[in-house]
Amino acid sequence: MLPLDPQAEIGRRAWVPCPGCEDTRDCEPCGERRACSRHWRYLLSNKGSLLHLQCPGCTHVWTHESGFGATRSLWSRVTSGLPRLSS
Ligand SMILES: [Zn+2]
Ligand SMILES: [Zn+2]
Repeated sequence: MLPLDPQAEIGRRAWVPCPGCEDTRDCEPCGERRACSRHWRYLLSNKGSLLHLQCPGCTHVWTHESGFGATRSLWSRVTSGLPRLSS
C-alpha cells in the first residue's frame, strides 16, 4: 500500500470508479453515477480535463480523463460535495 499523497485533502474529492479495487461495482449510488458517501477519491491535482486521483481504500494512484475540459464546470460537477440531481 502506498502512503496517502500529501496533496490528498478531504475537501477535494472526485467520484470516479477506482481501477484498483473496483469497490463501486455493487454500489447503487455509484452505479447511478451519483456522489456516493462511501466511494470517492482524493483529487490530488488536475491538468485540464485530466484528473490525478488517489483511492483512499487501496491507495491506488491514477489519472482519469474526465472529458470536461479545464473549466469551472469541471469543479462543480466533479467535486461538488453533495449530489445535485438535476434530472
Ligand atoms: Zn481503490
Ligand atoms: Zn458507492
